[in-house]
Amino acid sequence: MSQSVPAPTPSSFNSGSTRGFARRAVLGTAVTASAIVATHGVPEASAQSVPVVIKALPIDRTNILAGSRFDFRVEVAGAQPDRVEITLNGQDADIFFRGTNAIRTNEVTGKSGEVTYRNVTIANAGPVSVQIIATVAGRAYVDTFTWTVLRMGAGQARNVILFISDGMGYPTITATRIVSRGITEGKYDGFLNMDRMEYRGTVTTSGYDALVTDSANSASAYATGHKSVVNAMGVYEDNTKDPTDDPQVENIIELAKRTRRMATGLVSTADITDATPAAFAAHTRRRSEQAFVASTYLEDRHRPDVLMGGGSRWFLPKAQQGASTDDRDLVAEFRAAGYAVAATRTELRATPGSATKLLGLFHTGNMSVWYDREETKNPNVLGKFTDQPSLPEMTGRAIDALSKNPNGFFLMVEAGLVDKQLHPMDWVRAVYDNIEFDNAIGVARRFQEKNPDTLIIVTADHSHAMSITGTYTPYEGKLGPDAVGTYAESVFPTFTRKRGDGFPDSPMTKTTLAVGWANHPEYYDDGTTVWAEPLGPSIEDPRVKGTYIGDPKRAPSGKGVLMPRTVPASGNSETHTADDVPVMASGPGSEFFNGLVDNTDLFWGIVASLGIDPLSPNGRSPMGKITGGRFGDPANPASRPHFAKP
Ligand SMILES: [Zn+2]
Repeated sequence: MSQSVPAPTPSSFNSGSTRGFARRAVLGTAVTASAIVATHGVPEASAQSVPVVIKALPIDRTNILAGSRFDFRVEVAGAQPDRVEITLNGQDADIFFRGTNAIRTNEVTGKSGEVTYRNVTIANAGPVSVQIIATVAGRAYVDTFTWTVLRMGAGQARNVILFISDGMGYPTITATRIVSRGITEGKYDGFLNMDRMEYRGTVTTSGYDALVTDSANSASAYATGHKSVVNAMGVYEDNTKDPTDDPQVENIIELAKRTRRMATGLVSTADITDATPAAFAAHTRRRSEQAFVASTYLEDRHRPDVLMGGGSRWFLPKAQQGASTDDRDLVAEFRAAGYAVAATRTELRATPGSATKLLGLFHTGNMSVWYDREETKNPNVLGKFTDQPSLPEMTGRAIDALSKNPNGFFLMVEAGLVDKQLHPMDWVRAVYDNIEFDNAIGVARRFQEKNPDTLIIVTADHSHAMSITGTYTPYEGKLGPDAVGTYAESVFPTFTRKRGDGFPDSPMTKTTLAVGWANHPEYYDDGTTVWAEPLGPSIEDPRVKGTYIGDPKRAPSGKGVLMPRTVPASGNSETHTADDVPVMASGPGSEFFNGLVDNTDLFWGIVASLGIDPLSPNGRSPMGKITGGRFGDPANPASRPHFAKP
């Protein structure tokens, strides 16, 4: 017999205490004759009489790789339960996770109960029904969550190189193609490396807590196959304050190392401890804990063989102007662990060609963007960092080192500063870095020509509010919005390209792109697109601390149009959007990256292409095909070629 609970009214979704909970209505299921209430993360209409909310981590509708390691946690909120009974496919959790002891806690005095099983695995492929019954003051509250355990088939790829341009939406790609290759009479004069890939799909980007993601959350989905929340990576968010105790899920670097002894590497132009690279190795609720991330990189279970980027301060003690919280000299520790170390392009070039382990930290913070680093070499911007390598150079060096491992490699390469230039609405610097990103893809494509068992994936973690609204030609004294050409007036841009390196001769040209922003703080627009130094759109309002107003420097002509803000006054930059982002792939397994894919499916495409199977002694699946279920959009299998023939 079953009894239904009314669906929550929309207003009841607004309860602040429900952050991180799956928010959907379910029907109640009676398991005893007593009053039973379903509470599947639902702050339901009858909230006064039903204060109990049950949460399971991993969350409902999660796919789990057979044999992968994860922490399982149940949280009962709203009241302290007398008893929490958990069954999985009808079996008591203690028996289902044999050999693992449950830890039972009460984090919120009198108001919660948690049950945690650390480091468990599930071997049998197929659906898993998780039923939780919490007894509070004699009443039983029940909820059911469903997971799908998937076992991979044999994979065809030996190496995987994942390229992520942070914040690269479709408009950024279009602008990159226009500026880098040119367009004549509506046809492009050339295509980007990322354009020339066999498969192209569309990735949805939301985490489980909110519509709009950040880079930690979204890279975590790619790295682990599990959704997470803003600022978190490699973990589900629990109800405690400690950012390092949240339930963990195994990431692709850990799986590649543990099951296949593959080489692994992370390369970024941002701090190498920043959200995107960190999500592939680390586990934390707070992405800002970059010193913690740096020290965690040393742990054998997820220590990458190659780490290159910015952010040396997180690796150094205070005596060396570092910010290591426990005052360690991690650079020395990496050196002691056999890593060749470089702090400049010159030093990188001097590392031995035989090196298989590399630590390159080329800036104390984010590396400089291409435009400042390679075009203007502006000393005011570069400071003492006048000798930084390029992203293509780091990519080539990483591939050289990693490809010496006979078991293959996983490498993630990030253009980390595209995002960091789109936030201050500097599309020229962002596009220049995206051209550099595309050149790095070219390096990988040349490796792939000689090593066709290499899968290359190119994607972004989220988009930005940038849009190309037409072109911009200042004439007859017209500036800013008055000089924007729309429709028939959007004559083609006039960038010239004599250098042959993918970059235009100059970003300054008679007709450039007119770029608009769907959200922004207050700023002045006189059509200027290139500033001598990176410049934010707004400055703090001297009258109201913590709020931002347009910076007149943004419009050097003094004739800028004031653009009223479309985000709260407390924001000083343009923000991420909920837009889908593209994924392009080439090589064995590239067909997995096609159609409409959830962001967690990128992880599944990678493990499927490699055929990673933690249950096999050599980590290679003996199975002919994926078993237990499927990933991707089950409602539209035709959109994914690998679903066409079950
Ligand atoms: Zn961002």
